[in-house]
Amino acid sequence: LGGNADKRREESVQVCVRARPSDYDLSSGPRLAINSFQSVIQNSDSSQTFRFDQVFNQDVGQEAVYESCVSTLVENFFLGYNATILAYGQTGSGKTYTMGTEYEGEEGGRASLGVIPRVINEVFDFVSLNKTMDSKNDWAYKIKCGFLEIYNEEIRDLLHPETDQKKIQIRENEMGGIVVQNSKDVEVSSNSDAFALLRRGCGFRTTGQTRMNTKSSRSHAIFTIVLEKSKMKEDVLSNTVAKNVVCSKFHLVDLAGSERVKRTGAVGGRMKESVNINQGLLSLGKVIRGLSGKQKRGRHIPYRESKLTRFLQDSLGGNSRTLMIACISPSPDDYQESINTLQYAAQAR
Ligand code: ADP
Ligand code: MG
Repeated sequence: LGGNADKRREESVQVCVRARPSDYDLSSGPRLAINSFQSVIQNSDSSQTFRFDQVFNQDVGQEAVYESCVSTLVENFFLGYNATILAYGQTGSGKTYTMGTEYEGEEGGRASLGVIPRVINEVFDFVSLNKTMDSKNDWAYKIKCGFLEIYNEEIRDLLHPETDQKKIQIRENEMGGIVVQNSKDVEVSSNSDAFALLRRGCGFRTTGQTRMNTKSSRSHAIFTIVLEKSKMKEDVLSNTVAKNVVCSKFHLVDLAGSERVKRTGAVGGRMKESVNINQGLLSLGKVIRGLSGKQKRGRHIPYRESKLTRFLQDSLGGNSRTLMIACISPSPDDYQESINTLQYAAQAR
């Protein structure tokens, strides 16, 4: 594992799989064989083997997941690189639990905190550590948060839900950076400020009822942390000449459920929803496959095929780091969806 895992750490796209604990009796029906040590998963009759960067079984808790695949992204983010973490999987597979999108404070205990609150904590720890260690250099740090939802190819600003969705548009600036017009990031000065935004935004999320899960989310939720480091440069006479600014973005994405339309019993208006949601996930698959593919020269990456991929454009590929956490449920009823998820995730590598 060691050498291989170290090498993969250098790659811009990493794919891990996490299996959630089961509420069901697993003794009957088809099952997946999870080998965390070799990072492989096999289907029931061993005719298919899927290989990943890391595989977490149901015994692996939130902190261990964070330490083994998220923490290094935070270090890179602090150095000025963009990062994206995507939780993929069918409804009920553990995306929201893993990401910690529905943050409810620490009532559930520190150990159950998901990725987002842990990243927030580490970012603020980094800032205070650097302030104490770097007294003569005087970097100034500004941290902002944004929280968007993409639903039926429309973007909603969860921190300013009164904003007209039609006015929220994605644009590219002259530096190739993606900006979202008419959405506003909010400056935060502590981790509790950021937690408050996460909580507030969550309260506005769109949820729809499907046969599988009444709280099922049919939208992509993206919590973004923007870090702006700046310091004044001085010339030999100690005159302040220019501001040196380093800016990086960290996108934390709780994707819409990946389940197929038929399974959710979608009809009428709901059918349109499912088709659009799948478009985002479809484009994301193509983009990530394009980025992680062997042939890097002259390839076309179809960022513009969906709002999701367009929004993430400057934070996927290039110098950015991307981590996909594919979530699966071990229940025999979910077997086929789990296989679909493994196929999608294995192709992303
Ligand atoms: P999704 O967001 O993919 O629809 P959720 O994150 O809401 O799924 O998970 C469904 C249920 O399973 C929730 O009650 C959640 O708390 C629980 N759950 C998911 N993953 C885990 C896990 N690794 N450990 C404990 N409980 C989990
Ligand atoms: Mg969810």
